[in-house]
Amino acid sequence: MGGPKLLLTKDGEKFFIKDSSRDYDNQYGRLLKKDLEQKPGTVITSNTGVSFAVIDPTFIDRFEKIKRAPQIITLKDIGLIIAETGINRESKVVDGGAGSGALCCMLANVCGEVTSYEIRDDFFAVAKKNKEMLGLKNLQVKKGDLYQGIDEKDVDAITLDLPEPWKVLAHAAQSLKIGGWIVSYSPTVPQMMDFVGGLVGNKGFVHIKTVELIQRDWDVDGRKVRPKTTQIVHTGFLTFGRRV
Ligand code: SAH
Repeated sequence: MGGPKLLLTKDGEKFFIKDSSRDYDNQYGRLLKKDLEQKPGTVITSNTGVSFAVIDPTFIDRFEKIKRAPQIITLKDIGLIIAETGINRESKVVDGGAGSGALCCMLANVCGEVTSYEIRDDFFAVAKKNKEMLGLKNLQVKKGDLYQGIDEKDVDAITLDLPEPWKVLAHAAQSLKIGGWIVSYSPTVPQMMDFVGGLVGNKGFVHIKTVELIQRDWDVDGRKVRPKTTQIVHTGFLTFGRRV
């Protein structure tokens, strides 16, 4: 009793409750401890009459609670990195900079072993705290400069979210398995161009493709069915290369 719970309104609004052994207040009123402790699937009601379904939180619910320091990579971009490279529970992945740890935590949720490098002490601490909150034992957050080198060998994929990712290519070639992937996420065109230039100019790599993924969220509410009027328009470019 007293573990974390997730409450969902009919509209899909989420409330994460860290400790269900106490009453919980939100903008819809008060929910009582005896209700919060009901088994998953129970519908409970606040003192103002709003209903919530109780469920047990899963990885994504806890992930949404990570502390954010630098800008994180979005779920759409993370999804494509995982799908395009086909990395899975057998894969060894190197990532950096860890930043808030969003990408490396998501990678560790599906991969065998992940090491993420971070140069700054403050962000290193944030990423480490997020990894611990999520209980990811297969993720190592490492203090280090990815421009200087990569210790890991025989790596299946390297993911980069760095200001100057092309500076990693020379030693990335030494760390990656033949056929392994290098993926770089960059918000701006010059960064993306210089990374592609680096791949093309390096005999150890081929440039597979560069994509920008655009997600449009929609309102689907009765007859009001249309794209949401305000959206995130741009996140970044994803460049995929392979070690040959
Ligand atoms: N992908 C991360 C966000 C990374 S932000 C996420 O999803 O949460 C970019 C990070 O790279 C910053 O934290 C920055 O400190 C770090 N960084 C910049 N240069 C670096 C380098 N040479 N080696 C390692 N980390 C670096």
